[in-house]
Amino acid sequence: MNMSYPELPDTLIQIEKETLKRWKEEDLFRQSLAANAGGEPFVFYEGPPTANGRPGLHHVIGRTIKDLVCRFHSMEGRTVTRIAGWDTHGLPVEIEAEKKLGISGKPEIEELGIADFNQTCKDSVFTYKEEWEELSERIGYWLEYWRPYVTFHPDYIESVWWIVKEFAEKGLLYRGHKSVPYCPRCGTALSSHEVAQGYKEVEDPSLTFIARVVNDQGDPDPAGRAFLVWTTTPWTVPSNTGLAVHPDLTYVEVLSDNGCYIVAESRVEALFGETATVRTKWKGVELAGLRYERPLNLVPDPVDSGNGWTVVVEDFVSAEEGTGVVHMAPAFGADDYAAGQKHGLPMINPIDDAGCFIDSTALVGGQFVKDADSALVDELRSKEKLFDIGRVTHSYPHCWRCASPLLYVARDSWFAATSRFRETLLANNDQVKWYPAEVGENRFGEWLRGNVDWALSRDRYWGTPLPVWVCDEDRDHLQWIGSFSELSELVGKLPEDFDPHRPFIDDYSWPCAECAGTMRRAPEVIDVWFDSGAMPFAQWHYPFDNSDEFDTHFPADFISEGLDQTRGWFYSL
Ligand SMILES: [Zn+2]
Ligand SMILES: [Zn+2]
Repeated sequence: MNMSYPELPDTLIQIEKETLKRWKEEDLFRQSLAANAGGEPFVFYEGPPTANGRPGLHHVIGRTIKDLVCRFHSMEGRTVTRIAGWDTHGLPVEIEAEKKLGISGKPEIEELGIADFNQTCKDSVFTYKEEWEELSERIGYWLEYWRPYVTFHPDYIESVWWIVKEFAEKGLLYRGHKSVPYCPRCGTALSSHEVAQGYKEVEDPSLTFIARVVNDQGDPDPAGRAFLVWTTTPWTVPSNTGLAVHPDLTYVEVLSDNGCYIVAESRVEALFGETATVRTKWKGVELAGLRYERPLNLVPDPVDSGNGWTVVVEDFVSAEEGTGVVHMAPAFGADDYAAGQKHGLPMINPIDDAGCFIDSTALVGGQFVKDADSALVDELRSKEKLFDIGRVTHSYPHCWRCASPLLYVARDSWFAATSRFRETLLANNDQVKWYPAEVGENRFGEWLRGNVDWALSRDRYWGTPLPVWVCDEDRDHLQWIGSFSELSELVGKLPEDFDPHRPFIDDYSWPCAECAGTMRRAPEVIDVWFDSGAMPFAQWHYPFDNSDEFDTHFPADFISEGLDQTRGWFYSL
């Protein structure tokens, strides 16, 4: 018998291409879905990429793993629904739109008009859709691209509204005035899981300033004592209204050529060397109530200065670095804000939405806070209140999208009370089989153990509008809207092509049911991570449609994404 060897292809790529071609001709993916239609479901969720950015090489490995697992279960005869998803809202899209339009920041967006801006966002969300689809096809990643879920589609938004209203009715949403991480360039607060994605090593000033003790009338202390206070944010010193010491730490007076300084005993050597002359010792609690001179007078004292410029005791104070005496600016830091409320320290906030000192501020009016550091240090020096200035390298949070350093400021935001579910979240996490296991136990587990309430609202434009209307006479009169039909009951028939986005949604208002006021929509949009986290419901337009599909596809058997998603999508899911 005469046998011939098969002709070898020239390259492996040729084999791949021929295989892909055959799959396409046979429409093999759909055939495999149809063949397994009655099989036991294996539930997979596709984490939605943002298609206004190009896919990268790192996406190949993730998609290969996803495909491998789904394909395996499919070959075993199980139904593996693999709906593609697109994340289309939020800062990533807005920042691209700003670049495209050649504008930057909220004032320029509002000058252009929110309608035009959002149209640009909408037009740009699928810029690289074809590249994503091509990449997936080329690497043999099977995904149902013919029926994707898209987070800006009205149906998707309606499902998100439904979830939000469910939360609200369970009393899990609240408006808080809290210190939140804030991006001055984007003009919005960020949530803790976004902050967790943007830590960078940076060099900042390490400032130790002098706070002179005074008596109740404001006269200098006869003993000439002063506190040494450490901070890495000189721009918050004009807003200082308190000093905190630890109640149980030992503090001492140190005599030096220039005065008599109060610091934690354990910090003396680091600050003054081994030969320092130490006298009187106190427990921190004995220093409580001492008054001191305001370090910088660049903005007027508040009308009611309460207990301003007083020493208070707080357990969060540590003497591991600095002086053991903590500078408190309740308008900014989170601990400062809480302590300020407790002790009646006033809030002084001379910073505008763009992170600049307001024009009326002496010396540094109009300057971006981080640019004002050296002028502020010089001012302290000229007032003989500068003890030491150096540099410190530390890990500091930056905006995950635009890389600006974040500022901590007290603002009104809407929160979801996730911390009430900390135990449930942890218990559920224990049920999840993580590969590798330590990612779940350590990285994700630690994240959940430290869970704080989710700052849900964004002061931005292109996103799912927060479905809450607030009375203009009494801000405690609230109405949450959980569906389009609920909205139309209040405002009349909605147009055929109803678009739930800003600015159109902002035009709907109605009389308050509790008083003579008018209900107007709160201007915020929802954190984009809430959108993608809502996909188990919203990909089916649940509960308005497809209840059966939802029931068979919840919860997931398998998800797989990059490590960064442990604090992103895995959390919001
Ligand atoms: Zn930013
Ligand atoms: Zn009202």
